[in-house]
Amino acid sequence: MDNEVGQSFALPQLDGRVLSTLNADGSRRWITPREVRGRLWKARFIVAWVLIAIFTALPWMRIAGKPPILLDVALQQFTFFGTTFRPTETLLLALIMLTLFVGIFLVTALWGRVWCGWACPQTIYLEFVYRPLERLFLGKAYGKKNSAVAGWRRLLMYAVFLILSAHLANTFLAYFVGTDRLIHWTLASPDEHPAAFVVFALTTALMMFDFVLFREQMCTIVCPYGRFQSALLDNNSLIIGYDIARGEPRANSSQRRALDAQQKHAGDCVSCSMCVQVCPTGIDIRDGLQLECVNCTQCIDACNDVMIKVGKPEGLIRYARQNQLVQNKSVGLRYRLLIYPLIMLILVSVVVVLLLRRQPASIEQVRIIGGNFTTAVDGIHTPIRLMIENYTEDARTFAITGTNNVRLEKETTLLVPALDAATIDLTVVCAPDTFGRGSRSGVLFINGPDHFSQSVSISIAGPFIAHNAIGNANKIKKGE
Ligand code: SF4
Ligand code: SF4
Repeated sequence: MDNEVGQSFALPQLDGRVLSTLNADGSRRWITPREVRGRLWKARFIVAWVLIAIFTALPWMRIAGKPPILLDVALQQFTFFGTTFRPTETLLLALIMLTLFVGIFLVTALWGRVWCGWACPQTIYLEFVYRPLERLFLGKAYGKKNSAVAGWRRLLMYAVFLILSAHLANTFLAYFVGTDRLIHWTLASPDEHPAAFVVFALTTALMMFDFVLFREQMCTIVCPYGRFQSALLDNNSLIIGYDIARGEPRANSSQRRALDAQQKHAGDCVSCSMCVQVCPTGIDIRDGLQLECVNCTQCIDACNDVMIKVGKPEGLIRYARQNQLVQNKSVGLRYRLLIYPLIMLILVSVVVVLLLRRQPASIEQVRIIGGNFTTAVDGIHTPIRLMIENYTEDARTFAITGTNNVRLEKETTLLVPALDAATIDLTVVCAPDTFGRGSRSGVLFINGPDHFSQSVSISIAGPFIAHNAIGNANKIKKGE
């Protein structure tokens, strides 16, 4: 091959595949795993369908009149099990997120990538909905490159996939817009809600793309969560592993006969490749721990079946820890199993305290661009703007009052809608000699229903008065 300046060079020759989903020439390697309905598959099947039922039902359930989880980005309201938060409750939301992250660390430290294999929607929907349907529609042609399948079967399969993807898209969107709005959008013509229709169509197309075309590549190439979890594994984390000491040297029946003739020992692996044929990410678990392994347990079930057939004990591939598999080491004290729960406990305690002490409203001063003070006989008049956020489910009226030092030109009230924010422009009046270098601070009081009373510190712009000038003025006042 020639480069731009006409020099010849050879492409580097790769030794085998770079990715399990790519052929050596860079084309897509389609993975059509076989299915083994072993013990673990049956357990995963039950867990998967319970989770699918929960995922589908949650948006339709109500706690205190609201769905258990509603992430209404448009209205900026995030509801979790009856309590709605506004995005401005940053400390609380950040701590809840942090608690979730530490929870992921803890679960990974305890059970490795259990989320990927048992609970991730990508695995669940692909392995227990789309793939079984594909096997059903394609029949004997499933996984066979050159087998023809009747056109109507393929057409019907894609039609079912489309309906399923539309349903999934609706369920997914229900978590963001709520079922009431979703029903309204569904029943109305797309002309009435073109933006909603486009979002729905795009989400459906994304579901189709993911579950029909992209598939395992979502886990092996795109998902940051998988990489993140893999980085959290250590040699004592629970993984799915192949027992090299027991399995090697692997040998099929003819190799076994040859080894027997040489009076050499063959391992328990009969080189049947079933563990590879069932792997949905196309890897060979006998090559060791790999990032692509989503801990789906299919290779365990497949190998156990083989072991039973050849009369050997199950568990050549099993849930184990790297240290146990490679060095037969016992799992000692793992500090992370002490540290993560401790951090979780602290975070959960802080979140609970913050939730119990959660105020129904928050008040803050908002900057006014170009809001200049004026001087009058009764003092310096400075415009300020306050924003009140109402965290409750009812509209509330708040009364704003000043103090002796910071008077309000006109005391006033502000009606703030439920779970919303409102701003109000006020004018505060202060004595001129209370300003130092162009500003001063002050306090206002805000009172609301249910004995709500809170003070807010404000910054008040005013004249620039040098300190010696203030000192002189004070001395003159005192007649010194
Ligand atoms: S399924 Fe078990 S016996 Fe068969 S190749 Fe895999 S590890 Fe070896
Ligand atoms: S190696 Fe085994 S557990 Fe990992 S993805 Fe493949 S079949 Fe699933």
